[in-house]
Amino acid sequence: MDYKALAERLLPGEYPALESYEVKYPPRDLPKGAQVTRLAPSPTGFIHLGNLFAAIANERIAHQSGGILYLRIEDTDLKRKVDGAVEAVKSALRYFDIKFDEGAEIDGDNTYAPWYQRQRAEIYRAFVKRLIEEGRAYPCFCTEEELTALREEQTAKKEITGYYGKYARCRNLSEEEIYQNLDAGKPFVIRLKSMGNPENKIKFRDAIKGEITVTENDQDVVILKSDGIPTYHFAHAIDDHFMRTTLVIRGEEWLASLPIHIELFDVLGFERPRYGHNCSLMKQDGETRRKLSKRKDPELSLEFYRKEGYYARAVKVYMLTLLNSNFEEWYLKNPEKPLDEFKFTAEKMSKSGTLFDIDKLNDISKNELSKLSAEEMYDFLKDWADEFGSESQRHSFDDREKMLKVLTLCMGIGGKKRRKDFTTASQAMEFIRYFFERPASYEEYRVDAATKKAILEGFLAKYDPADDSQVWFAKIKEIAAENGFAAEMKEYKAAPEAYKGSVADVAEVLRIATTGKANTPDLYSIQQILGEDETRARIGAQL
Ligand code: GLU
Repeated sequence: MDYKALAERLLPGEYPALESYEVKYPPRDLPKGAQVTRLAPSPTGFIHLGNLFAAIANERIAHQSGGILYLRIEDTDLKRKVDGAVEAVKSALRYFDIKFDEGAEIDGDNTYAPWYQRQRAEIYRAFVKRLIEEGRAYPCFCTEEELTALREEQTAKKEITGYYGKYARCRNLSEEEIYQNLDAGKPFVIRLKSMGNPENKIKFRDAIKGEITVTENDQDVVILKSDGIPTYHFAHAIDDHFMRTTLVIRGEEWLASLPIHIELFDVLGFERPRYGHNCSLMKQDGETRRKLSKRKDPELSLEFYRKEGYYARAVKVYMLTLLNSNFEEWYLKNPEKPLDEFKFTAEKMSKSGTLFDIDKLNDISKNELSKLSAEEMYDFLKDWADEFGSESQRHSFDDREKMLKVLTLCMGIGGKKRRKDFTTASQAMEFIRYFFERPASYEEYRVDAATKKAILEGFLAKYDPADDSQVWFAKIKEIAAENGFAAEMKEYKAAPEAYKGSVADVAEVLRIATTGKANTPDLYSIQQILGEDETRARIGAQL
């Protein structure tokens, strides 16, 4: 067969000499040991925890070694493309402080651009043409229906599905048959002519899993689709080579494609980057563990963390805890240090399924948020409210002074113990809502209506916002005594039957009337923040 003539017929025209790409995209000038890593998402608009997991690992390894992290967009499949997806990826990762040095829509060096695979079609085709010339790739004219029938036949026979060996029908077409098909205008794809044998096992050193055994590929995978766009497998091999990638940390769902990738790198004559396949995130679901699912688990999507207002550092701390077995110990010793000072290694990544537990994340979040100053908390909440909050939530930041007082009180700043009530921004905003809005509902008063009225009236009669907290509390005790409640806790404990209740019950009535809630931080302070008019109005409204 005249492969050269065939290549010219299939991909007519002049392509740059392949060697010219080696010159155009030269090896990177980086210090020894510097790693070039990448994130290569498809622009589907869905970015999930698995992406973040890989992103953190790639980012850490690149930057720790003085290397480069770049963003490549794998948009070979137009059907899955969603508008705005690239911005969504970038902003989701920016939130978690993943900074790219180069790549799609990144302000950085563009030596290795273009970063969108669709814009690199010429390079891919040039290499496909070479493979056809070498007899290592061939046109396949099988239709969708034929391929479906093949799959069904193989499934029925319990054989491995795919286009390989004796099933690779077009692999053995004669020159005459090929040209007949071409003359008849039949659409075609280009397939790799695999030389692999599944009987052969290859030893492979995975950067995370260590030594693993891989079966040689014998699938004649499609490398160029009928629209002249390559498949992901082929494009990524070309790109990782010419973008001079040295390490790829990616999800273990790609392990199944590894044999194909190994053969592609070999046939292209490229040195492979190192690959590390990281384990999937699992969720405990009753008795069983299963992979987090897009359909069932909202917490899989990174958008969930933004919308709920998770504190990025907390999510990152949890991710690092899951990613590197020695992180937790390091963090216990260095709770205040920038996370980037932790020495991350691929070898310390877990080799099998990792359990993702949102309750653990929530605990970490509470802990991280309790370390913030009121000002830091203000900024964090305001950023969230600006993007996701209601109008009234956004307005609660207009009076900065007031918000700082609210946060100081609710976070227990300056008190004996810092409070850990806040998990996320949305939850925190809900928690402090009564400072900015009248309560929409009230928890149940545990006294009868007449007693409640008497307590509230007694309070309004005595209330003076100029009182300090001791005077204020002395007045509450008076109200208690006047209404048949014990003014002192110990009096009540000594003879509970003699009283309607204690001063604590009286305070609870006032607390519910002021805030709607039976449990709040110090009521005197709350009323001080609300001010006289608002305090009177709220109590008055509950009479
Ligand atoms: N485009 C692939 C994805 O969407 C990337 C796979 C890889 O990292 O090699 O996940």
